[in-house]
Amino acid sequence: DSLDKGLEKTKDSFFGKLGKALVGKSTVDDEVLDNLEEILVSSDVGVETTLKVIERIQARVARDKYLGTTELDRILREEIAALLSESNTQDVPDFETPSDKKPYVIMVVGVNGVGKTTTIGKLSAQFKKKGKNVVLGAADTFRAAAVDQLKLWGERVGVPVIARGMNTDPSAVAFDAVKEGVDRNADVIIIDTAGRLHTKINLMAELSKIKRVMQKVIPDAPHDVMLVLDGSTGQNAVIQAREFTKATEVTSLAITKLDGTAKGGVVIGISDEFKIPVKYIGVGEKTEDLQVFNKMEFVDSLFK
Ligand code: GDP
Repeated sequence: DSLDKGLEKTKDSFFGKLGKALVGKSTVDDEVLDNLEEILVSSDVGVETTLKVIERIQARVARDKYLGTTELDRILREEIAALLSESNTQDVPDFETPSDKKPYVIMVVGVNGVGKTTTIGKLSAQFKKKGKNVVLGAADTFRAAAVDQLKLWGERVGVPVIARGMNTDPSAVAFDAVKEGVDRNADVIIIDTAGRLHTKINLMAELSKIKRVMQKVIPDAPHDVMLVLDGSTGQNAVIQAREFTKATEVTSLAITKLDGTAKGGVVIGISDEFKIPVKYIGVGEKTEDLQVFNKMEFVDSLFK
């Protein structure tokens, strides 16, 4: 399916290398572990997380000196699944929202180009398919293109997009969108925001202002602050996650563009470092290519 296809490059580079590293080796010795370490780091799992995985495997080797390399696949899979389970304690139900939170407000953050608008568009389409009423707010008022693109998605999917003029205060747009959502009895309100990292203090102030203003309409909004990261940028995505988690409380992640990259390991590293659940992954351009992240399916398709 599209998950397997989307993760093909990561899988190929990872297991291709792993296969080569194991040639002529029957037991998991130091050399095998060294190679494994290098492969994990080069798949963008991240140094810290890689060391953690290696230590866990080392501990298993210590218990079973004659651990065969044929078992390495299974062990690695178990350890990666265990790591992902720590931060993704619950699987997200397929494009559902909690029934006691209506409208459910999702505030989407992330830097330009990571696939924020596309993710919001795909997400609206999926919610719509589930019979939910969606309202979008175009609070990224610094880029005309972002507003236009969101409007385009709105037309395509058939959901209203609340937008104001360029350079309007983003929190004013967020306020209007949330209010409109309440008036229309929406199930989901998704607010697009601008993410300009070069003005870090402004980012923090801006995001808190947006939150504050929407809370005038819905006191416990936003129910989800979703950070969108471009998985194909590997360690850059990690740096962005660090910046955004400093600026605001991020409650979920969407990791895009995992198709066409061998850096899919970044999902593992990010999960481990931030302990924020990955809700969605993007594995292609089509609407269905935005998938609910399921840790076991993810691991399974890496090891297929
Ligand atoms: P924004 O600036 O963050 O709003 O980014 P956009 O939503 O405009 O996306 C930037 C580009 O990334 C667009 O060409 C999208 O089609 C593309 N894109 C977004 N998500 C994915 C994905 O999961 N896979 C692929 N291949 N492309 C994606």
